[in-house]
Amino acid sequence: MNGMTRREREVTDINEIIKILDSAKVLHLGLVDGDEAYVVPMNYGYTLVDGKLTLWLHGAKRGRKLDLIRANPKVFFEMECGIQPFEGEIACKYGITYSSIMGRGKAEIVEDIEIKKSALSFLMKTQTGKDFEFEDKMAAVVSVIKIDVSDFTAKHRPAPKMG
Ligand SMILES: Cc1cc2nc3c(=O)[nH]c(=O)nc-3n(C[C@H](O)[C@H](O)[C@H](O)COP(=O)(O)OP(=O)(O)OC[C@H]3O[C@@H](n4cnc5c(N)ncnc54)[C@H](O)[C@@H]3O)c2cc1C
Repeated sequence: MNGMTRREREVTDINEIIKILDSAKVLHLGLVDGDEAYVVPMNYGYTLVDGKLTLWLHGAKRGRKLDLIRANPKVFFEMECGIQPFEGEIACKYGITYSSIMGRGKAEIVEDIEIKKSALSFLMKTQTGKDFEFEDKMAAVVSVIKIDVSDFTAKHRPAPKMG
């Protein structure tokens, strides 16, 4: 991906990256619709194995995002947390704190029922911190999207130092 402006704000510590993945709860999934962009907010689960990030989404079994993934599986995503506006003496000194991750990858609509059940457990773990198990019939009624993340970056904007 392109180099980041404000390089000093880049986050490379994996523990900080995990904190963002655990906290954001919602990601914005960017899809390509012909010559247009389409962005859809979704809850997610994640797995991080040997530095390899995979995102797991679920939803209804039909709709625009599924049609677009079938036509073009290339996706981009963004998620953020730690949003806290701060004030300044002049308008230019106002701002907002954040931690965010952006990345790209390839989406796949999962059909294997065992992988779907695992994906739903990953999703619930990320969303709630709790372990849930799923039966075949629960997984059968939803669609599951797996995103193999090829690369991502993370960024943190802290609050300005006082004084
Ligand atoms: C915080 C948050 C979390 C969500 N989590 C999930 C999730 O985990 N799984 C999930 O499937 N969905 C989730 N949703 C709903 C999601 O954003 C979509 O509405 C839904 O997934 C349907 O997407 P679709 O592409 O199939 O749209 P379709 O139902 O095919 O809709 C077609 C059209 O409806 C409009 N539309 C669709 N969604 C929205 C929207 N959210 N807001 C405004 N207009 C819209 C757009 O114009 C779109 O072109 C979440 C929404 C929010 C705000």
